[in-house]
Amino acid sequence: MKKLWEYISGEARITLTIKQVVTYLISVMACIHIILFLLFFYFHVYMMVAVNAISILLYIICLVWLHFGKSHYVVFNLCYAEVVVHAMLATFAVGSSCGFLLYMVCMIPIAYYAVYSFSDSNRSVSPFVYIFTTVVVFVISKYASWAFDPIYDIGNSFIQTIIYIGNYLLVVVTIVVFMSTFLIQIRTLEEIMMKKNQKLEVMSTQDALTGLANRRSINESYKNIIRKNQSYAVILGDIDDFKHINDTYGHGCGDIVLKAIADVFKSSVRNSDTVCRWGGEEILVMLPECNKNVAANIAEIIAEDVRNLVIKSSEGDRILITMTFGAADSDEGKDMKDVIKEADDRLYYGKRHGKNCVVKEF
Ligand code: GH3
Ligand code: MG
Ligand code: MG
Repeated sequence: MKKLWEYISGEARITLTIKQVVTYLISVMACIHIILFLLFFYFHVYMMVAVNAISILLYIICLVWLHFGKSHYVVFNLCYAEVVVHAMLATFAVGSSCGFLLYMVCMIPIAYYAVYSFSDSNRSVSPFVYIFTTVVVFVISKYASWAFDPIYDIGNSFIQTIIYIGNYLLVVVTIVVFMSTFLIQIRTLEEIMMKKNQKLEVMSTQDALTGLANRRSINESYKNIIRKNQSYAVILGDIDDFKHINDTYGHGCGDIVLKAIADVFKSSVRNSDTVCRWGGEEILVMLPECNKNVAANIAEIIAEDVRNLVIKSSEGDRILITMTFGAADSDEGKDMKDVIKEADDRLYYGKRHGKNCVVKEF
């Protein structure tokens, strides 16, 4: 019951294929025709008993057809035609006051649903083909019921009103089933898209190997700093002789070293700082409200933690890892580019003077 309510209110989350939806539609339609079959039988409207028997048979054939993977497009159109012909014949048989033409109205949202669903399978259908048919049938049937007496007289206007209400309710059920299915499909698709967008967002701001931010994120942090009118410092670190590590222990081992170093950086900075993979084996930290002396101290701590990393090669040798750092702050350049350039110059000064050090001035 709870599941049914969730479905009707569009809260359920199910990925339905068009084949499943058409199967549900046919099942609902078949049930409606069984009810109508019994109704007409009760009122001795044998022409419509026969029509309903044929319709039920058609729906069973369609279900089997679908089951064997035949085109849901053909099946949908067959069912659509059946409803249209059925409504017209029922109106000829018992008059328009029993409300069989209401089915012509409920086919309009279904037509739109079909157009939405079939666009998936590269079928270009216009809803107007369906709508036009229903309008034509409605007008012809209404005119005929005005011009001619119905073939069967099923009783007084009270009975006709009851049948009208019954038809109205069945039409409501059909529309509810369709619209809730439509809503569920749209919401499910929306959620899938949102999750994909979030994933893309992460992918576009993060480095896949280390999980560190990428250059784009540094630009965002910098924009934030400027907006808040804050001072900032940067630390630029580069792994010493990383090529040698790769050449000696393999690229896979180099990757492990990179990830371990990234973790050291992440655990050494504040939440407000941004650690970014600046280049292959270069890591940049943007520290808001910080100066280069504090930044250099943080770099010293990171350098020490990196030296203390215990990473072993597949042969069991401990890989010695050191890094060289350059630090600079916002007082030393007019924008981020300048400040990073300053830190980079200091980093390369450090490289030229023995590596494994932190440089905050020449
Ligand atoms: P220096 O001390 O002067 O920085 O020497 P270096 O060997 O570290 O510098 P170099 O620029 O000569 O080499 C950097 C190496 O980093 C070369 C490149 O293959 C490696 N590298 C870059 N990105 C990755 C990566 O994602 N994984 C691995 N394993 N290696 C990488
Ligand atoms: Mg290097
Ligand atoms: Mg480098």
